[in-house]
Amino acid sequence: MDSPYLSRLARGIEPYVPGEQPTSDGLIKLNTNENPYPPSPRVEEALRGRAARLRLYPEIDARTLREIIARREGLSPEQVFVGNGSDEVLSFCFPAFFDPEEPVRFPAVTYSFYRVYAKLFGIPYEEVPMLPGFAVDVQAMTAGRGGAILPNPNAPTSLELPLAVIEDMARAQREKGRVLVVDEAYVAFGQEPSAATLVPRYDNLLVTRTLSKAHALAGLRVGYALGQRGLIEGLLRVKDSFNSYPVDSLAIAAAAAALQDEDYFRLRRDQVVRTRDFFRQGLLERGFAVLPSSANFVFARPNFCPGRELFAALRRRNVLVRRWDAPGIEEYLRISIGTQEEMEKVLAILDEIRASSV
Ligand SMILES: *Cc1c(COP(=O)(O)O)cnc(C)c1O
Repeated sequence: MDSPYLSRLARGIEPYVPGEQPTSDGLIKLNTNENPYPPSPRVEEALRGRAARLRLYPEIDARTLREIIARREGLSPEQVFVGNGSDEVLSFCFPAFFDPEEPVRFPAVTYSFYRVYAKLFGIPYEEVPMLPGFAVDVQAMTAGRGGAILPNPNAPTSLELPLAVIEDMARAQREKGRVLVVDEAYVAFGQEPSAATLVPRYDNLLVTRTLSKAHALAGLRVGYALGQRGLIEGLLRVKDSFNSYPVDSLAIAAAAAALQDEDYFRLRRDQVVRTRDFFRQGLLERGFAVLPSSANFVFARPNFCPGRELFAALRRRNVLVRRWDAPGIEEYLRISIGTQEEMEKVLAILDEIRASSV
């Protein structure tokens, strides 16, 4: 029972539920799209000896980190916003860009945090039904009066829209004077170039990124947004009404080090992509329906038992994946890509389960 002391808002919200973070070892953990490899060794170097400086507040506006990001993207530091994980950046987008008179649109099958933010900030929303095969209905996404937000590649479907389609959406939104937010949490694993290349031409486009997935820094909590100055200023207004220093000095140093080690980044990304393609092929050979993946996970439906049963059978064998009891996707599992050895083991475990269920 809720405490009678809670506000109506606190009583009414339904928080996002992340995948579990078990503390025990011995699990193959494929439920939160973390990177199976450690971050760049430069991160450890960057953190060494920093404890004494923790007595000071961090650098205002994470300027050093924003400069590094800006240089990589061919933008100016004023076109970069940094936050405590991209979840925080995405949450700030709702009060910064969306109004209560106009529903914000997002795909019906997508990152479920958008719905939570909309409710928290009192923004109405419209979930745009998926087209066959879980395709995003691009026309419908921009047909409303208000803003639009979507991940590209989408989660949990792992499907990617071409850059030209993102540009069409940005243009359609700009024509009616509204914002398009593109959440690029998984862009490193896809084939399409980032929508960041459109930022100089679309003053209504905001692109968010995270260091949690491809840079293997989920525990650090650093994400960022790229957009023209007007949008970035909107985010800063919200941030400065909430917490002046959401990104701590250790996070700034570690994120800067990871972003600058491009060779390491590419090495690990390529490993994950190779294992993903190997694993997807293995699932197809075992009769799964698997969407083509542009992310570090696959979205797959077994043909030999219900999704719920397979989820439980994997769990009993210490393999943790993600599944939702939501209409249209209840038969699917979202399986993050681990190391090559882990994914070979998962395929062997699937063979065991399949043999025992027939
Ligand atoms: C993981 C994820 C995020 C959150 O990233 P953090 O930077 O760890 O907060 C945002 N959007 C999508 C679609 C994600 O899957």
